[in-house]
Amino acid sequence: MGTKDTDLSNTESNTTTSDSEVKPNIAFIGLGNMGAPMAENLLKAGYTLSVYDLSADATQRLEQAGASVADSPKSAASNAQVVISMLPAGKHVHSVYLGDSGDNGLLAELPKGTLVIDSSTIAAADARLVAEAASKFDIDFLDAPVSGGTGGAIAGSLTFIVGGSAEAFAKAEPILAVMGKNIFHAGEHGAGQVAKICNNMLLGILMAGTAEAINLGVKNGLDPKVLSDIMLQSSGRNWTLEVYNPYPKVLENVPSSNGYKGGFMSKLMQKDLNLAMQTAKDTDVETPMGAKATELYEAHARDNGDRDFSSIMAHHDHSVLS
Ligand code: NAD
Repeated sequence: MGTKDTDLSNTESNTTTSDSEVKPNIAFIGLGNMGAPMAENLLKAGYTLSVYDLSADATQRLEQAGASVADSPKSAASNAQVVISMLPAGKHVHSVYLGDSGDNGLLAELPKGTLVIDSSTIAAADARLVAEAASKFDIDFLDAPVSGGTGGAIAGSLTFIVGGSAEAFAKAEPILAVMGKNIFHAGEHGAGQVAKICNNMLLGILMAGTAEAINLGVKNGLDPKVLSDIMLQSSGRNWTLEVYNPYPKVLENVPSSNGYKGGFMSKLMQKDLNLAMQTAKDTDVETPMGAKATELYEAHARDNGDRDFSSIMAHHDHSVLS
């Protein structure tokens, strides 16, 4: 139980690059829409990967790309100095690392000094719980949620928002740099998750507000493009107007001009808003605008969960879906 020592820079079986930099072996757990392309980018950069997912389809894709497939998280990590996970939600992260009794998960099996990077979006409180358990086994844990969606995962241009010790962050940075363009150290354990949900709460508010403003203009006879251009040059300017307009055909190459397909699903926005609300409640912080955006997305995601989150436009004007 956590008795072997691991050294990220000194393992005989690790891959050595031409400039004699030693790359740690990586176990990658969770190979879905985000995890699979992230793992593929690590393989392309020359890392040796052992992967695990509950879905055989997911692991097959990575096997073809050059990873070895393991039949459990423990066996994926058996020769790894770094573990990365990209799982749906907090309960999956708990189950992998803590097991069903809290101390019979992967953490209990890893050698001391293993670096664990969890990039799933989960509650900050859940991330802190896993970090605390990890520290009991002398394992470095980082919460490292991402922004940038599946496009960013494929392009290797994600933003990583990391919480944990400066030492662990320094070890993780070169690995994260393979999968992302901007790597931020937000603070101690949980800080990555807090920063991520603050950003996504604001994004949900901005998207809901932009859709509401455009709808008000359109219902009063304005052309959505003319109104958007005016607001873009005025004080209502924001990211959603600039690069992600929710009204169809105002911008090209955005989900609203493509039947709200692709992009960032409404159900994922709903999940992140719920995490923001949970954090606000746990810490007794008022978030009235976030609460309203959560209410809107909860109602919207019931029938539109798989549509891009800009489809909140349909809450005001159902005709945009046709
Ligand atoms: P996904 O559902 O496509 O993939 C999750 C994968 O985890 C699946 O392949 C599933 O089989 C696997 N899995 C579930 N439980 C497991 C377990 N116990 N052991 C091993 N594998 C297990 O989800 P995704 O879109 O890749 O998202 C992953 C995380 O990234 C989520 O927390 C999400 O909120 C976050 N995120 C997603 C996006 C996005 O645009 N999709 C953007 C930013 C952040």
